[in-house]
Amino acid sequence: TFLSLDGVDGAGKSTQIRLLVDWLTRQGRDVVSCRDPGGTPTGDEIRRLLLDPEMRISLRSEMLLYMASRAQLVTEVIQPALDRGSVVVCDRYLLSTLVYQGHAGGLDVEDIRAVGAFATTGLMPDWTGVIDLAPETAAQRRDAPADRIEQRDRSYHEKVRRGFQAEVEQHADRMSLFDGRQAAEEIHQAIIVEVQRVLDR
Ligand code: C5P
Repeated sequence: TFLSLDGVDGAGKSTQIRLLVDWLTRQGRDVVSCRDPGGTPTGDEIRRLLLDPEMRISLRSEMLLYMASRAQLVTEVIQPALDRGSVVVCDRYLLSTLVYQGHAGGLDVEDIRAVGAFATTGLMPDWTGVIDLAPETAAQRRDAPADRIEQRDRSYHEKVRRGFQAEVEQHADRMSLFDGRQAAEEIHQAIIVEVQRVLDR
């Protein structure tokens, strides 16, 4: 079973990943968690490039770098884990690229889907949880200095938020939206209801 969590920066994604992994482990599942971009030595190098405020990276190049990191992650980590019967929990996946570089960045979303299908050999999560939060609230919660993407303007982050909402609406059969203003434990409980449903099918 392949699960991913996604959403705007600062929405509480990392906390929810940790809570979900702990819960799955307590259920006796073998769990592999990973992050995209990154999660492999090659992917971590690509991630470093992508987030470096000094790098000038064109939008198309940026999109392909995310895909290259993801291709490596699928081959090296996700597919082998699924083949062993593990549950994979991924921090972001293709949806992030559809939203950040497509809906917000302006690249054609269907082009990105096609490149994504190639990069991932068509491997898609069985279920994706998206945590929704207004960008200004999310920015207030951040402690680390802003990375190359986080430095983009307010309207970019608004488009990111709306992109996530639109994608979840279009793919309600395999995606769910959670309100990031709720307490972490409350969001966690809502997430495990959905995850249990996926595990039971
Ligand atoms: O959530 P994480 O820390 O892994 O995200 C890394 C950065 O990359 C964030 O600033 C996120 O907004 C950005 N990102 C992006 N396009 C993607 C995936 C992540 O701009 N496809």
